[in-house]
Amino acid sequence: MAMPSNEICIIGAGVAGLKAAQALVDSTKFSSKDLVILEAQDYAGGRLLTSDVKESKLGLKYDLGAAWFHDLLSNQTLADLIAANDPDIFDVGEDGYFDNKDRKVYNQDGPVNMIELKLNRVVEEMEKFIEIYFHDSLDVKDVSLSEIIEEYKRQYDVFLTPIQKKLSGQILRYLELWYGITWDKISGKYAIMDHHGRDLYNKRGYKTLINYLCKSIPPQQIHLNTQVKKINRNNQLNDYNIALETANGEVFLCNYLVVTVPQSVLQLDPKHPYGLEWNPPLPDRITDALSSIHFGALGKVVFEFATPWWDLNEDRFLILASENDTVPSKQITESPPPFTFPAYVLNYASIHKSASASSLVILTQSPLTEYLEAHPEKAWSYYEPMLRRLCAHGQSVADPINTITSKWTQNPFIRGSYAALHVDDDPSDLIIQLLAQFPGTGLYNCPIRFAGEHTISDGAGCVHGAYQSGIDAANWIIDNKV
Ligand SMILES: Cc1cc2nc3c(=O)[nH]c(=O)nc-3n(C[C@H](O)[C@H](O)[C@H](O)COP(=O)(O)OP(=O)(O)OC[C@H]3O[C@@H](n4cnc5c(N)ncnc54)[C@H](O)[C@@H]3O)c2cc1C
Repeated sequence: MAMPSNEICIIGAGVAGLKAAQALVDSTKFSSKDLVILEAQDYAGGRLLTSDVKESKLGLKYDLGAAWFHDLLSNQTLADLIAANDPDIFDVGEDGYFDNKDRKVYNQDGPVNMIELKLNRVVEEMEKFIEIYFHDSLDVKDVSLSEIIEEYKRQYDVFLTPIQKKLSGQILRYLELWYGITWDKISGKYAIMDHHGRDLYNKRGYKTLINYLCKSIPPQQIHLNTQVKKINRNNQLNDYNIALETANGEVFLCNYLVVTVPQSVLQLDPKHPYGLEWNPPLPDRITDALSSIHFGALGKVVFEFATPWWDLNEDRFLILASENDTVPSKQITESPPPFTFPAYVLNYASIHKSASASSLVILTQSPLTEYLEAHPEKAWSYYEPMLRRLCAHGQSVADPINTITSKWTQNPFIRGSYAALHVDDDPSDLIIQLLAQFPGTGLYNCPIRFAGEHTISDGAGCVHGAYQSGIDAANWIIDNKV
């Protein structure tokens, strides 16, 4: 049987893989016939997944993975979508929404008067303290976000009112809904991000980006349901350098390879059913770097209601956890008490400026994500007492007519959300090991590039980082093509 052979194979049809393909096809050196994308799942997009309108009782679509364009000032993805100037793809006026009003915060007692209590300034000061604490000396030992918050409160106790002391740390736990892990795990050293501008919510859904990228790639070049299992990089067959074996026994030959599988897949033992077998194996420096970095589990729960009963003037709400500082261990086996974790809630009715978009979208962190993705029927009993605090004047809470949850931790090809730094993790080591040249190990004399959100510093974990990593991988191949 003839083996499919292409100059370039790309593993993974997420944003990194699709962007690499688009950049290669747009170059003068390659055409779409020179490449093939092998994707394990039955759809293109990976962690960009806009739900089907059929799942909704309100005729709505939800992004169960990425939803925002982060870092407005340096977001190439957004710039390219706007430059495409095609209203069928993206119309920034219609589809973009800044949901960054000052946070409306609630706790078990109801709304927290952030202005009166001067809490925003304390939280900003706490963030600055964390930055200064770790940047004063590179050798400062890393501690968790919860520990560094305690250190701030200890040092600045005299300047804080009792209520500021009680609530400020709980407010900073909003970072759990950025990293997808709890504050006892988050690396204090890397907790505070250097944002490049505002975040724009993508109301149309990220499917639009996939459609835009797929316009350059003929559908027959994207092989869905094709899980790569083995990568033989010293192939001698038919003059191709690399042979890929799939889980169902097909072989694809190529001279250049772009590997965009999530970090969580690279971290699996090669013998694991969803792991990659490298022949020869990956160099120790890469496997060592992979074993010293973590993967978060950000998830989403969507509740749809017959009509809204919450404050329609606010586009998002932060509901604080109770001040019980013990965080449940790695795995939850039964529903935790409400207020165990902070919740970040998006008000779809406000974002879409329509009371008929009557839903709340809640971000979840590990280990709650794992539990609720496995037991969506438990989501309402956990959140109902918390969401009740959002009732608009004179309204009472109503049960949802529909619940939708993400399934990232259940998905064997994703296995969580994105790279996340635990205490003592080194964010740059893996990137250096994956992208640097290694004379002597053989791997990088062999034309294999890694791309994806875990392979880049600017935009790490984000769509625009993954997108840029795809461009970088394509450019490397274009520049090195002999
Ligand atoms: C809940 C959630 C919310 C998020 N919110 C945002 C946000 O608002 N803004 C933002 O910028 N980012 C956000 N992100 C992050 C963003 O979605 C990712 O950084 C980005 O989509 C990653 O793209 P990628 O191409 O690196 O990986 P992926 O999209 O995961 O693509 C990799 C592909 O490889 C495939 N694959 C795996 N194993 C194999 C195999 N053996 N063979 C073949 N194919 C394989 C997978 O199926 C997948 O399709 C969020 C992520 C999650 C989960």
